[in-house]
Amino acid sequence: MCALTQPGAIMPNAIVPDATIPERHPAAMARIVMKFGGTSVADLDRIRIVADRVAREVEAGHEVAVVTSAMAGATNQLVAWCQALAPLHDAREYDVVLATGEQAVTGLLAIALQTRGIEARSWQGWQIPIRTDGAHGRARITAIDGAEIIRRMQIGQVAVVSGFQGLGPDNRVTTLGRGGSDTSAVALAAAIGADRCDIYTDVDGIYTTDPRIVPRARKLDRIAYEEMLELASVGAKVLHTRSVELAMNHRVRVRVLSSFADASDDNQGTLVVDEDEIVEKQIVSGIAYSRDEAKITLRQVPDRPGIAAAIFTALAAHHVNIDMIVQNISADGSTDLTFTVGRADLARARATLAEAQPQIGYLEIVADANVAKISVVGTGMRSHAGVANTMFRALADKAINIQVISTSEIKVSVLIAADYAELAVRALHTAYGLDA
Ligand code: ADP
Ligand code: ASP
Ligand code: MG
Repeated sequence: MCALTQPGAIMPNAIVPDATIPERHPAAMARIVMKFGGTSVADLDRIRIVADRVAREVEAGHEVAVVTSAMAGATNQLVAWCQALAPLHDAREYDVVLATGEQAVTGLLAIALQTRGIEARSWQGWQIPIRTDGAHGRARITAIDGAEIIRRMQIGQVAVVSGFQGLGPDNRVTTLGRGGSDTSAVALAAAIGADRCDIYTDVDGIYTTDPRIVPRARKLDRIAYEEMLELASVGAKVLHTRSVELAMNHRVRVRVLSSFADASDDNQGTLVVDEDEIVEKQIVSGIAYSRDEAKITLRQVPDRPGIAAAIFTALAAHHVNIDMIVQNISADGSTDLTFTVGRADLARARATLAEAQPQIGYLEIVADANVAKISVVGTGMRSHAGVANTMFRALADKAINIQVISTSEIKVSVLIAADYAELAVRALHTAYGLDA
């Protein structure tokens, strides 16, 4: 396959020239990708409701492709089965197992659509194909050949595509990382030149923070790509980080909305747009939290050139991603070095560091998985001082101790004890004037 030169192919980070995407059917109103998350397809009743929703768009004259997740909880069950057999299992087989969750849903939804008189068929990642790199368990989409999907949409067929999965360079099944079906949807939308990509989920849009934690969270009508990218990357799981990155690079119009709303509801959701399309700008637009990290401290590391390189090179070689890092000044020629890793990588990180101890020469490793990272995000930070200070003051008022701090141009993150995560998010939501 030579996807990158064929019509409708995408190469992430390269804008698809309009000329490569075939004209749509003259009678078609719009070309839409509709993505449904796990709770939206959790059982047959929910799948029927999804089928009705898809049918409405088809009957309105749109060309429709659907991307689905697995039923809520299904992927967790599949992960648990792999782990029960072997905690350190073959990542290629893990992907084979995990990809089955979405496959079942595509077939069921295609059947439900057919019973509504709609010509629908299911597509697995390997059938399109959705090409990825070979990083099993967290693969990145490298190309999608959208030509056949477009051809069939033009004759009125609805493609029901498995999210989350693709085909690696060696023709083995890959998955895109937890929550990755958002990315499948946006990538498909880019590949077929869709007018919009509607992400249907169990909340009615993107909020100032997780509405399940903060009932006073406010729904946003619009959010900037950059802000959403930052929020997603620090834990707001409403959108998969890579999906936002792809949407930004390929100018895909993404809307997040509820699959639970009635047809009569005002279900406009939240649009992810360019920063300059946002009229009312806030200094802080959102707050996110993540319990997916763990903290490692190496005590009494020799304070000399090359030591940090030795530590992080060893971890990188074992595919351990590092997030926050702090190092203290040394008084006696040694220092403590603290950093965070993904919680799932903690065991691997410890084993790697133990093995590299003779080269690094630290005294001991102290690990703590009982931490949470809280982040405040907003493009307004670029031009306003005092954002971090408001955060530190609000946390101090609740007697919450800050263990590690990191910042970017539009974000401040702190690591705190996990038990205080919800309290901290609520306090910060109030401190930045975000409460509804
Ligand atoms: P799906 O299965 O549809 O992909 P997810 O569980 O992945 O759904 O994402 C939706 C969830 O994201 C919501 O139920 C909500 O708890 C959570 N969430 C976290 N941060 C936010 C936010 N800022 N706005 C809306 N939802 C959020
Ligand atoms: N089913 C996958 C998961 O649970 C992908 C997704 O839902 O986006 O992570
Ligand atoms: Mg999701």
